[in-house]
Amino acid sequence: MSSTRLTELRQQISNVNLALLDLLSERGRLVMQVFEEKQRANIPIYVPEREQELLNELIAHNTGPFSNDTIRYLFHEILRASTDIMEAQQSKCLQVSRATHAEDLVIPFADVALGAAPSIIAGPCAIESEGQLDAVGACLRRHGIRFLRGGAFKPRTSPYAFQGLGKLGLELMKEIGQRHGLVTISEVTDTRLVELVAEHVDVLQIGSRNMFNYDLLMEAGKTGKPVLLKRGLCATIEEYLQAAEYVVLQGNRQVVLCERGIRTYERSTRNTLDISSVPLLRQMSYLPVIVDVSHAAGRKDILAPLGRAALAAGANGLMVEIHPFPATARSDSRQQLDFTEFEAFLKELAWPWAAVDSDLLFPAHAVNVIEKGRRDEVFGSL
Ligand code: PEP
Ligand code: MN
Repeated sequence: MSSTRLTELRQQISNVNLALLDLLSERGRLVMQVFEEKQRANIPIYVPEREQELLNELIAHNTGPFSNDTIRYLFHEILRASTDIMEAQQSKCLQVSRATHAEDLVIPFADVALGAAPSIIAGPCAIESEGQLDAVGACLRRHGIRFLRGGAFKPRTSPYAFQGLGKLGLELMKEIGQRHGLVTISEVTDTRLVELVAEHVDVLQIGSRNMFNYDLLMEAGKTGKPVLLKRGLCATIEEYLQAAEYVVLQGNRQVVLCERGIRTYERSTRNTLDISSVPLLRQMSYLPVIVDVSHAAGRKDILAPLGRAALAAGANGLMVEIHPFPATARSDSRQQLDFTEFEAFLKELAWPWAAVDSDLLFPAHAVNVIEKGRRDEVFGSL
């Protein structure tokens, strides 16, 4: 072949490439219009039957030289790129996205709020007895902390481990919350329990293991109560926001996001606190973001620096596990702070961060002055 002929053919190929690019861009623009129509009609972005129909049509018209498999492969990539355009567009349109609501969301309760000045949420991993929860409640009030969390239904890795007190735990939560004027938070693990938990506590927690449980997210959303949604242990930020979207789509915007560490290869902490998720979530969404330092670290000695890092990154609050006698706690005993350690933690974090109404600071509750070792006498053994 003469070199002029080769140059000529190459020029033709370049022209075809440019024409293909024009056609692809035209296709992309049409896809954006299809997306808008689908949004209006509430039709899913990806419809496998439609993709199959398009591929069949192409194969029927294929006259070579490319094999049917190659045509299928090439167009599959084009279809996928089109779905990607629609997905990127959709994530900008999420109801949890800042693009739809620029202001930070503040969730009000009777006389406190989440999402305004940073808050501390604390409590035992599991509710174990009235004495235990009462001691924690009183401790929180002494420090001007207004959010009590404790598990009544515990999602435990081992089916043989303590599963929580169930309904009794919720009843205790309600009573102690009222006694000390605290906003209460407890986890709901199953759609069948949503009503029961919502009747007893102010905020429904959805745990890390259930972040992908879409039925549960929707049921919790329907209650209209604030939902504290923990990040799934293997969830990307995008998946996490999509999970929050399930709650918000029920007409309930009151979602608090909670970064609690993700699974990595690192073994010196229970999970790896993904600090970058904090500014990213705050940037992408108007929802308050809190950081659970206890489940991220799984140990006590680095909670304060993690808390400082979280606040510096823009967190709206911290969650921490505390227990009157962590050594005897029925779950997560290694990561729960006792009251002295908790005080040191608060001091290291220079709490309180906002002016605290001194009326909120109750005098020390009797249970708190009971020495360690007399636990069973005071708390009873359940
Ligand atoms: C909890 O907060 O009690 C808990 C079980 O945490 P996570 O869902 O983050 O593991
Ligand atoms: Mn725990």
